[in-house]
Amino acid sequence: MSDSDTRDRSDTLRTPIVAVLGHVDHGKTSLLDKIRGSAVSEGEAGAITQHIGATAVPLDTISGIAGSLVDPDDFDLPGLLFIDTPGHHSFSTLRSRGGALADIAVLVVDVNDGFQPQTEEAIDILKRTGTPFIVAANKIDTTPGWNPQEGEPIQVTYEAQSDRARSRLDENLYEIIGELSDSGFSADLYWRVQDFQANIGVVPVSALTGEGVPDLLTVLMGLSQRYMKDEMAIDVEGPGAGTVLEVKEEKGFGTTLDVVMYDGTIREGDEIVVGGMQDPIVTEVRALLQPKPLAEIRTEKQFERVDAVAAAAGVKIAAPDLEDAMAGAPVRVIRNRTRETVIADVESELAQIEVETEEEG
Ligand code: GDP
Repeated sequence: MSDSDTRDRSDTLRTPIVAVLGHVDHGKTSLLDKIRGSAVSEGEAGAITQHIGATAVPLDTISGIAGSLVDPDDFDLPGLLFIDTPGHHSFSTLRSRGGALADIAVLVVDVNDGFQPQTEEAIDILKRTGTPFIVAANKIDTTPGWNPQEGEPIQVTYEAQSDRARSRLDENLYEIIGELSDSGFSADLYWRVQDFQANIGVVPVSALTGEGVPDLLTVLMGLSQRYMKDEMAIDVEGPGAGTVLEVKEEKGFGTTLDVVMYDGTIREGDEIVVGGMQDPIVTEVRALLQPKPLAEIRTEKQFERVDAVAAAAGVKIAAPDLEDAMAGAPVRVIRNRTRETVIADVESELAQIEVETEEEG
């Protein structure tokens, strides 16, 4: 890093990036929908922001959903950015500078079904990428005799259950804890975990009734704040860095990239380097696009243009020559560096992804 880089740095804490993984039908989509829905019903317009490929939930909204569990004064991270569930095969290619793109993950496990093949695969990926995670033991409302407590924290909901329902749920939860242990992870119900670096916290939830969702958000926020604060300190004004989620044709824009930005800022007109199937692509940002607010989505235009996007955020990039771009590839703004340095960076990152993919195969 040059002197001018260090001198001008004014670090800001960015939003941690959260991925939701798990076996098909265990409730990934429902859980994300519930979090979005709870955030919307919290009231404040604009409380959550729908990004391309991601949803941003600010701290105030989290504290509104979590009630007494979260005191916003205890936190200085701005909230959480949930990546729309990418399917875990693509998750394994979602890297950022050698680490995982997601700072933290939620592994969703159906409390009745327990571990299934894709749960195991997700665990392997989380292990390999060293991504910290918690387990959402989902569908607790399907426990026979369950007395649902819409949107309540798990302690409240537990107290409202019969002994019989509670012990049935406990049996299922301990089965999941056992399966985690078989996979090499020491785990326990989250309120019994003292050290989340040594133990995986299991959070009982229902994506249907929202029970336990306050706890899930609280644990995610707490873990990020406690263990990731240093990594979240970025120079927001610095040249943007991100990872391609998807390459998509878009009417009127040609080939576009859906990207999650994890560092710096990207602006319209910026020169960028993108990982391609053959060589890195050097091009210029023609437009940065975000989804239109829900109320306006029925108009003919799906997207609205923005001048700049700061990490962490999802954004669609329109630019010439993107046909050869790949999902999982790095995106870098060149800004005040030489083109060659940035191309070399992108090449070495791509080489690393290839090595890992071969090891997997
Ligand atoms: P995904 O494949 O992991 O994204 O799973 P979905 O979110 O599509 O959920 C699969 C099915 O399980 C759907 O029919 C959901 O309505 C149902 N489901 C998800 N979460 C819950 C839950 O907490 N309780 C109940 N009763 N059903 C759920």
